[in-house]
Amino acid sequence: MRYGIVADVHANLAAFEAVLNDMGHVDALWCLGDLVGYGPDPNECIELLRRQNHLCILGNHDMAAVGLLDTEEFNPHAAFAADWTAATLTERSRNYLLGLPDRLVAEPFTFVHGSPRSPAWEYITSEDRAAPNFQQFDTPACLVGHTHVPVLFTLEDSGVQGRVPGPGDRVEIGPHPVIANPGGVGQPRDGDPRAAYALYDSDTRILGWQRVDYPIQLTQQRMKQSGLPQRLIDRLTFGW
Ligand code: ZN
Repeated sequence: MRYGIVADVHANLAAFEAVLNDMGHVDALWCLGDLVGYGPDPNECIELLRRQNHLCILGNHDMAAVGLLDTEEFNPHAAFAADWTAATLTERSRNYLLGLPDRLVAEPFTFVHGSPRSPAWEYITSEDRAAPNFQQFDTPACLVGHTHVPVLFTLEDSGVQGRVPGPGDRVEIGPHPVIANPGGVGQPRDGDPRAAYALYDSDTRILGWQRVDYPIQLTQQRMKQSGLPQRLIDRLTFGW
C-alpha cells in the first residue's frame, strides 16, 4: 500500500492541491495536524481532505481555531490569523476539527503534531529535543509536523542522529527507531518555498521526502483579499 503524508497544510489550498496531484494515487492520506490557520482557505482544505481516504490529528492551530487553545500563546500575526479562521470556519468544518484526536497509531507509525510527549506544543528541532521523545511511543516510528521543516532523527547505538532530508531522500522503517517530519505543505520554513510532503510504501517500508512547486501568488492574492497580515503573505515567497 502507498500512503501520502502531509503536515501543516495551513489552509493553503493551492499548495495542498499541488501536493495531491504530485503524489498521484495513494491508498490513504495521513495528515499530521494544522490543517488550518495562517492561510486563506480553511473550509476548502478540510473538504479536500475529507474527500480522501484519510486519518488526521489535531494541531495547535486547529485547536486555536475551535477554541480548544488560547491564542494568547501565539505571536500577534498568528493570533490574528487564528481569530480570522475561527470566524471563517463553517459549522461543518468546526465539528470536523472538534472530532479529531491529538494522537493516533497506524502501524508502523504513531502520529502527533508537535512531539509525543507534548503533542500541541513541543518543537522537535534538535537531537537533544528528539532524544527523550523516543521513550514516548511504542511503534517503530513516529511522524510529527509543527516545525514546517523536513527532518529525520534515528536512534542508533551511538545515540540520536539527526539530518535534514532533501527531495528524493528516503529511510527504511524498522532497523532503528525513527522520528520523522515530512516538512510543511502550506507554509514551509526551511528556506525552500515549495510545498513539502512524504510518501510511505508499506511493501518496501520506505519513507521518502518530496517537494513540489505550487502557484504561491494565487495563495498570496487570496490572503490579501481576506485581509490576512502582510508578513504572513510575504513569508510564503521565501519559505521561512
Ligand atoms: Zn503549523
